[in-house]
Amino acid sequence: MKVVVVGGVAGGMSAATRLRRLDEAAHIVVFERGPEVSYANCGLPYYVGGTIADRSALLLQTPESLHRRFRLDVRVRHEVARIDAVAKAVEVVDLATGERSTEPYDELILAPGARPRRDEPAGSIPTLSLRTVSDADAIHDALTEPGVPVAVVGGGYTGLEAVENLVGRGAVVTLIQRGTQLLSPLDPEMAAPIAEILRGRGVDVRLGTQMSAVDGKELILSDGTRIRAELIIDSSGVVPESAIAAEAGLRIGDTGGIWVDENNRTSHPDIFAVGDGVEKMDLVGGEAALVTMAGLANRHGRMVADVIAGRAASARPALGTGIVNVFDTAAGKVGWSEKQLRGAGRPYYAVHVHPGSHAGYYPGAETLSMKLLADPESDRILGAQIVGRDGVDKRIDVIATAMHAGLPAAELTQLELAYAPQFGSAKDAINFLGYVAENTRTGTTPTIQWHELDAAIAAGDPVIDVRTPAEFDAGHIPGALNFPLDELRQHTDELPTGPLVVHCQVGLRGHIATRILTQLGFAARNLDGGYRTWLAGGGVPAQL
Ligand SMILES: Cc1cc2nc3c(=O)[nH]c(=O)nc-3n(C[C@H](O)[C@H](O)[C@H](O)COP(=O)(O)OP(=O)(O)OC[C@H]3O[C@@H](n4cnc5c(N)ncnc54)[C@H](O)[C@@H]3O)c2cc1C
Repeated sequence: MKVVVVGGVAGGMSAATRLRRLDEAAHIVVFERGPEVSYANCGLPYYVGGTIADRSALLLQTPESLHRRFRLDVRVRHEVARIDAVAKAVEVVDLATGERSTEPYDELILAPGARPRRDEPAGSIPTLSLRTVSDADAIHDALTEPGVPVAVVGGGYTGLEAVENLVGRGAVVTLIQRGTQLLSPLDPEMAAPIAEILRGRGVDVRLGTQMSAVDGKELILSDGTRIRAELIIDSSGVVPESAIAAEAGLRIGDTGGIWVDENNRTSHPDIFAVGDGVEKMDLVGGEAALVTMAGLANRHGRMVADVIAGRAASARPALGTGIVNVFDTAAGKVGWSEKQLRGAGRPYYAVHVHPGSHAGYYPGAETLSMKLLADPESDRILGAQIVGRDGVDKRIDVIATAMHAGLPAAELTQLELAYAPQFGSAKDAINFLGYVAENTRTGTTPTIQWHELDAAIAAGDPVIDVRTPAEFDAGHIPGALNFPLDELRQHTDELPTGPLVVHCQVGLRGHIATRILTQLGFAARNLDGGYRTWLAGGGVPAQL
């Protein structure tokens, strides 16, 4: 059996090496357009920033090492220009010599990845993307001295990684984001702290604007402002490399990605496709989506090798689990955001909590901001977002695991998670999130969301702040009345008639107050996530 693989990085190389482990006799040829195979694209920003000092650490394998260990025939600087699905052959261009040749196959695996959405240079300012080792070299070499002004276009995962590492190299960075928030997979109140962290590190964050023209060494933005830049890093997004698949007549989905079935087989029975160039089935939406993540590319590459080797295997729907580090803070997400759910008209309930990353009495605990979205009928978890300095990765992975297993939100209360004070709490942040979800869904504690507060105040609902007078004086919701929680029972006859909005700093004291008041017959709702979430959502406090 002869198997040809197009693309020799994440998905392609996972397929090729797994196939060898399953079939010692297969003839496996890998064509890679670039000069390197199997390199660590996720590590590229950290080479630019200097955290990865040794460039060779990025190059996980070479054609020679892959031949030695796996007997793979890996040909770099070879581009597959055309697929003849009827004759079962690919036309290959040797990019060093320009020679064309034809390579027949029994099975073809496409792993061509994605390419930057915009590839034209921006006038007289050099424009680079950060996708390949050569890109990283070019950026690395352009930062010859501190103070180089660099504009990064796009505030998604890779844009933020680029910003962090450019700052690490002493560049003066402007981040330009078309949307009104960074990290668009997150909801605005969860992403807002990231912009503040960047500003605190000297990054000029421009939201709600985009590049419209270049004048010499200046970028002109759509809001009319100008930015000086010696270099532009384009992180504005990627599109699937699906051109040769389309030309070969393979079905392309509405997303622009190559259509595949649950075995990652394309519309042609002898051709498989994996990775960023391919549509995935989205777990929450139940429809095809583009999810460009390394784990999925690797997993599906391995799975396709299993299928070709005759094993029963299939792809699970994608959750879109992701995490990014921005200086001392991490932001993780899984599943859908509230924006997505609302846009799709899906019923959901949301909870925000701010527990400690580990027991508060043990030094070093950091506050986590966690958001969970779940279906009010089935309690199925639809998504989660977590931002914080410590413990974000393990919490988002627990929720991803729960979603994979189909656990309802209330089951988060039952998970028995590893605990010693350095690592968590006896009631872990995940359990706590489950308790709040359960209280919210069952109506034990009625809640109101940060973005619903203005309408409630406009309707005349009094806001009761149950924090201490010192907290209240430092800043409070305009018009709020201060009744500290521990004195609330003595003052209930002074409370205005409801429906009341009750709140504290993060939601916990507000929950207790709401329980007291509702049991006394008041109509009361707790502001979910408290003052902290309201502030993150853009609330403007009054101060005494
Ligand atoms: C800077 C950066 C950081 C990232 N960080 C993360 C992260 O932290 N976590 C995460 O989950 N994901 C991350 N990703 C995304 C992750 O790298 C991709 O999801 C993954 O590499 C996709 O694998 P793939 O095999 O589909 O494509 P790729 O790994 O991009 O490989 C595709 C290869 O195919 C080659 N090719 C394309 N067309 C042809 C052709 N016609 N002939 C021959 N060769 C061809 C290309 O040259 C390319 O080398 C990051 C990506 C980048 C760029």
